[in-house]
Amino acid sequence: MGQGEEVNTRNPSDVEIQERGEIYFFYRPKVGKEEAHSSDDVQKMYIVLRPESGETSTEVKQAEDDHDDEEKNKEDVQPSSSAGTQGGHGAQEVNIEKETLLRFIVMGKKSLPDPTKKSMPFWGFVELVTTKIQDVKDALKGEEYDTKTRGHRHKPPARALGEGMYRILRHHVGGVKDDKKKKMHTHLIYKLELPSEDVNEQPQEALNVEREASFLIQIKNPEQTGKQGRTEFRGLQRKRRAVFPAHLQGQFGKLRYHAADPPDFLNYEGCEFLLISASDDIEEELGLDLETEQTHDASCSDLVNTFGVGETGSADALLRGIWV
Ligand SMILES: [Zn+2]
Repeated sequence: MGQGEEVNTRNPSDVEIQERGEIYFFYRPKVGKEEAHSSDDVQKMYIVLRPESGETSTEVKQAEDDHDDEEKNKEDVQPSSSAGTQGGHGAQEVNIEKETLLRFIVMGKKSLPDPTKKSMPFWGFVELVTTKIQDVKDALKGEEYDTKTRGHRHKPPARALGEGMYRILRHHVGGVKDDKKKKMHTHLIYKLELPSEDVNEQPQEALNVEREASFLIQIKNPEQTGKQGRTEFRGLQRKRRAVFPAHLQGQFGKLRYHAADPPDFLNYEGCEFLLISASDDIEEELGLDLETEQTHDASCSDLVNTFGVGETGSADALLRGIWV
């Protein structure tokens, strides 16, 4: 189904598309659960972004050999187990029009932001950045392991929850004319292609994965350590935070947050960000419509074709909108 097309329905000068691609949503049931029946049974929610084109065909990501294969899959079932993972650093160029680039993102609150609570930021971070599909498959799979205190544990594999197209874009509030004082922020917008619109969408509704949504996205300055205000998040431990190259880190100045401009910030493991609900009607808000291809068929699903249906053997959450 691919990255799809966007159509400008109003004056397009307020909005500049920075990046286009595919977006996939997953959830993982809690340790020990064979399946989830409600959001209470969910351990993690993941987003995978696969950029396919943008303002430039080449993006900068962390250096490939920064991966610590030992630690990569030890995503925090127990928060202490991931303490050794290092945030990504270095620089490697990837041509996103020709090569696969995948960002594996963990949402801190196990859901997307509640669209009715527009001012509440939801924290998330990039756990894995890779050019290899297998790395993401490994991150999604289940695991059997033994603990000293709690005996044998089963971490269930992640379930596919949604598939669609996304854009990261600059939004100039108040237009671009007022150059000196122009205010710009960045949005992550998406529109679902799967599940199709005629299914129940139980897990999707429970985890706030709407048919379409628009979020403000702000990148957190990994070097900012100042006092923690009410809206501040504890976030990742310092050594897990991204180490951006100077040209990216320099954009923050002394600020705590920066727009996702360029989107290359998201190509560093340990990149923390905030999503803030902006709108559930992209066309009304930004004068932009995303044209998706609706399908009911697993064989047309890029998600299924790329990552398979996993060890569960079931794509029922994705295709039928039911908990599995
Ligand atoms: Zn905006």
